[in-house]
Amino acid sequence: MSGRPHRDILHLDLDAFYASVEVLDDPSLEGKPVIVGGSERRGVVCAASYEARKFGVHSAQPTATAKRLCPRGIFLPVRMERYRKLSDRVFEIFRRFTPLVEALSIDEAFLDVTASTRLFGEAERIARKIKTCVREETELTVSAGVAGNKLVAKIASDLGKPDGLMVVPRGTERKFLAPLPVGRLWGVGKVTREALRRMGVATIGDLSGIPSEVLAKKFGRHGVLLHELSRGIDEREVVPEQEAKSIGHEDTYPEDLVNVNDVQKELLSLAGRVAERLRRQGVKGRTITLKVKYHDFTLITRAVTLDRGTDDGGEIYRGVLELLRKTEAGKRPVRLLGISLSHLSSGGEGSKAQESPEQLPLFKSHPPERAVGGAAGLPVSREKKEKLNRTVDRIRERFGKKGIRPAALLDEE
Ligand SMILES: [Mg+2]
Repeated sequence: MSGRPHRDILHLDLDAFYASVEVLDDPSLEGKPVIVGGSERRGVVCAASYEARKFGVHSAQPTATAKRLCPRGIFLPVRMERYRKLSDRVFEIFRRFTPLVEALSIDEAFLDVTASTRLFGEAERIARKIKTCVREETELTVSAGVAGNKLVAKIASDLGKPDGLMVVPRGTERKFLAPLPVGRLWGVGKVTREALRRMGVATIGDLSGIPSEVLAKKFGRHGVLLHELSRGIDEREVVPEQEAKSIGHEDTYPEDLVNVNDVQKELLSLAGRVAERLRRQGVKGRTITLKVKYHDFTLITRAVTLDRGTDDGGEIYRGVLELLRKTEAGKRPVRLLGISLSHLSSGGEGSKAQESPEQLPLFKSHPPERAVGGAAGLPVSREKKEKLNRTVDRIRERFGKKGIRPAALLDEE
């Protein structure tokens, strides 16, 4: 078609991830309808094994509904720490094949393997190798889609599930997409789908036959994008974490958080994880953003920009507490919390003005920082604290995430 450079993209997605981990840890669950997440009171399903899916159970479904559909289902609580640990191992495997790994979630990633093919063979072979490594090293199965762009790779991995490997050869993208419902395309939600239906569009093939100008007139800029996607054209790049504009983490809770102490505790844990991730990437962020989704799905974000970059969990947590005051957490039930840092810079830079090493005056109203384990009352120098953080990271690497945690999280078990 055009002079577009060709790319080899993989989309990798662990199959029924949480449920698979539960089966892995308790083989007696093998072949049974396992449903993870959700409690009696208010809960939604976080993951369902394929056996449970046969009953119509799926993630994001209210647990009550799942219980009705699958009364003999085995309902288990979410064990996020465990899933995270396995996810880290899987992502480590991904990174053996390319540094260009973009995580979409805990169990899903895009890999750009264009430059890796010389070393490891063609993209399909890389996908096979990754599947084998993941199975041998974690006993989990991952589905893979192999294509020339993100859109097609993702749809391919979805269609091949579970334990799938679907390759869409270059030049056949449009043919591959044509019979699929338009809802498969990115950005086609209920409203767009309904508008398209009224135009007589049901499949991606139908959509690709409509001139770009018509779609542009109807949907604006989004229409132009839709036109391209429907023809299997998608030029979005794989953005690895190092280059991402922000680094963060969020959790959806199986049960709404109603009291502010619980919210704070979760934020402390999130702040620590985000800080760890920043340090692992060797970057600091200046802008802290807090994301809160209330029980009714309304989403708000609050942000603050610091004088200089940070990769310290305590600093991030204090920033987030300030932001928390500008939310209704504690008054309205919260279903999701997220913390992210943007304005990233590498190493110790990211500062407008260098602060004195004795102080960490991000929020002038706060007393000087006391590092985890630091002698009470003694301000800890920035250098010392960074050294301490690195030590903590190393211990965590050796002993897992539970090796060292803020005291407030110790009763979490
Ligand atoms: Mg998955």
